[in-house]
Formats: sequence, structure tokens, C-alpha cells
Amino acid sequence: MMERKVVSLGERWRRDATRGVDDQRLAQALEALPSIRKPMVRIRAGSIRAEMEGSMGSIHEVSLQIRTLPRKDWPTLVRVLRRSKSIVEALENGRVPRSFDRLVARIVGEPLFPDARSVTSGCSCDLPEKPCRHVLALHELFARRLDEKPWELLLLRGVDLQALLARVHATGHEDLPPLAFGVPEEPVLYPDAEDADLGQSLGRAQVRWLAGETSERFAAAALQALGSLPAERPPAEPPAAK
Ligand SMILES: [Zn+2]
Repeated sequence: MMERKVVSLGERWRRDATRGVDDQRLAQALEALPSIRKPMVRIRAGSIRAEMEGSMGSIHEVSLQIRTLPRKDWPTLVRVLRRSKSIVEALENGRVPRSFDRLVARIVGEPLFPDARSVTSGCSCDLPEKPCRHVLALHELFARRLDEKPWELLLLRGVDLQALLARVHATGHEDLPPLAFGVPEEPVLYPDAEDADLGQSLGRAQVRWLAGETSERFAAAALQALGSLPAERPPAEPPAAK
């Protein structure tokens, strides 16, 4: 299987933030980066705020804003995560896999990683260029932080990771039925994914996509062969009686 290069969260953030910005402005932003007053960086649900030292002792207040994720479908996300072992393990280890991003997009209707157009910015300086070097510097700072602390993306989108994991691990809940064949993962099939897991539920269209250009007969035969495989061992716990 062909290896795809995985683009880090920080790199994705940087690419989005600097699209259409020329090298000279990027260089100015990198020069401005050290003037961010680190203790004054605040990452909260919906915003990142920082103070930067400008020329002649002036202080610029710089901010990025992004709306927090809607919460109404959270119970569904929690239930699906209970069947998504590898995603939960990654989150517990402080990673934010792209498969989680896509799961959020599917259930909440909006990806965790924001569309660049939905991030707005502000700065108290009066430089004519938009976004100004201070905003670009703050983007760069956050991109670097994302590579060290990917979970700050959750914080920014208003997701309390510890509370989410606690709900995923909570017992006594009404769960979704176990997946067929006792597979541990929610099937997610994304041909364009960079690190998505291959789903376990194959349909005719998926078999044809996997195998490339093949005849209907081949797809049917493949499905038949899969269907006649001995079942995996049964799920550890029987489905709760309704
Ligand atoms: Zn500025």
C-alpha cells in the first residue's frame, strides 16, 4: 500500500493561515514572532489572544476568533466514540487523529479543524496590510503549539477533552448495539483520508473502489468470499437487553 505523507495539525494550520501571503510579509511575521509576550497568550474556547510589543514601547492586542463547535449532537459523538477504540486511544495520548476530525464532521456537521475562512482576526495596530504581521505571527505561534500540544485545537473549539473522555468511559449508559462481527471500530471509509482507518463494512461500491476498475462479477465474488469467511470471535459482552 502506498504511504501517504501525514501533514501535521500545525502544518495544516500554517498552510491555511499563510495562503496568498507573499514571502516578504511572512518574513516580517517571523521577525515579529519573538515580540509576542508569551505569558500573555490566552487560548480559550472560541479565541486566541496575545499581546505583542510594537515599536517604541507600544503594545498591540492581537486575536484570532473561531466559533465553538455546536453541542447538540454530543451524545451521539460520545456513543460512536465508545466503538472507536483507536481514536479514543489517540485522544488519551494527546493526539488528535484526522479520523476524529472526520467523525466530528460527520456527526456534528462541522469539522474540528476549522475552515480557514471561518477564522477571523483582529489587531490594534494600524498597519495597512491585512492580515497584519502580528496576526500572522500569532497564527505561526499557534501552528507551532499545535505540533507540540494538538489538544489545544479542542480547547479552541470549546471541547473539554477530559469531560468527553470521561463520558466515553462512563458505564451504565444506553449504548449503540455492538458492531457486526465484534469489530472494535466504527466503520469509517474515506478514500481521500490521510490516516483514516479502513472501514470493516464493505459494500459493492467499496469493493470496486478498493480493487480498481473491475467487473461487477468480481465485486460480487469478492463479497461472497468475504461473506463465507468464518465469523470472528463473538463480542466480549452480549448486547444489553432492551
Ligand atoms: Zn497588527
